[in-house]
Amino acid sequence: MPDIITINNHEVGLGEHEKINLNIARLPTYTEIDLPVLIYRAKEDGPVLLLTGGLHGDEINGVETIRRMIEEKSIIPQRGSVIAVPIVNIYGFIQNVRGVPDGKDINRSFPGTKRGSLARLLAHTIMNEIIPHIDCGIDLHTGGASRANYPQIRCSFNSERAKELAHVFNAPVTLNSSLISKSFRNAAHKKGKEIIVYETGESMRFDEKGIEEGIRGIQRIMEYLGMNDEGPEQQPSKTYKKSTWVRTHNSGLFTPNIALGDELDRKELLGWVKDPYGKLNAKITAPKSGMVIGLNNCPVVNKGDALIHFAFN
Ligand SMILES: [Zn+2]
Repeated sequence: MPDIITINNHEVGLGEHEKINLNIARLPTYTEIDLPVLIYRAKEDGPVLLLTGGLHGDEINGVETIRRMIEEKSIIPQRGSVIAVPIVNIYGFIQNVRGVPDGKDINRSFPGTKRGSLARLLAHTIMNEIIPHIDCGIDLHTGGASRANYPQIRCSFNSERAKELAHVFNAPVTLNSSLISKSFRNAAHKKGKEIIVYETGESMRFDEKGIEEGIRGIQRIMEYLGMNDEGPEQQPSKTYKKSTWVRTHNSGLFTPNIALGDELDRKELLGWVKDPYGKLNAKITAPKSGMVIGLNNCPVVNKGDALIHFAFN
C-alpha cells in the first residue's frame, strides 16, 4: 500500500486514525446523510483489511462487533490498516429495516452506478472509494426476518484465497456458499479482492456468543495477514459444502425440537407443525445427516415457509 490512502480526497498517512464522511445522497427533507468510514493505520505499512457491518440495516450484530473492537482498541493493527464501515446501510439502520427506503437490497445492487437509485449509488461509492484500497474484507451479517443463524463463515470454496481466509477466521461453522450475482462479495471478487461473509444471530437482537466469535475471528485474520503478532487460539469447527432450507408442507404453528448448532442424523426429528385446532400434527425431519445452522423463530408458518437451514456434506 502507498504511504497515503486517499478516500473522498481525504489523505490518511501511516500512523493516523481518521473518520471520513462519504456523502451519498440527501433525504427528501434535504437532510444530508453521510456514510462514516473509519481508518486505522499503523505506523508500519502492511495489508489493508476491510470490516463492514449493517449492509442490511436491521442486522446489528456486525455493527456491535465493530463497535466493541473500536472501544477495546483491538481494531488498531500493529502493521497495515483497517478500514471499517460499521453501518453500510445507514438509511435502513435508522428505520430498523433491511433495505434502503425504496425497499431495494444493497447486497443485490453491486457494483452499482453513480446515477442509480440509492442502493446502487451506495454500492458504487463503496466499490470506487473503498475497494481499491483493500487486500481483503470481512462482511458481517445477521439472519434476516425472524431467522437466527448459528455463527458461520460463508465463502465460495472455488476460491482458494477465500477458503483459506474462512478457515483462518475459524468460526464454529464454515459453509461453502456460491457467489450471488450483484452481491458485494461477488463484485469485490471480480476486482480480485476476496470478502468473506460472517453470519450470526437474528435481526434486531444481539447474539453474544456470535459477537464474541466474530471478534476472535477478525483477530485471527489480522494475525494471519501479519497485521498483529498474536491472535486467539484455533478451535474445533465444522466445514460443510452444502446447505438447504427445510420447508413446511403445511400451515400452522411450528415447534422446533432442536437448537442452533445441533448435529443430527438423517430422518431425526427437527420439530412439528401443528394446527391451532388439534387436527394437524406434522413431523419435520432432517433431510440428511448434518447440522442446524439457521432457525426460524416465528412459530406461525405458512405452507412453503423456510423453517430450518440445514448444512451437510
Ligand atoms: Zn445480511
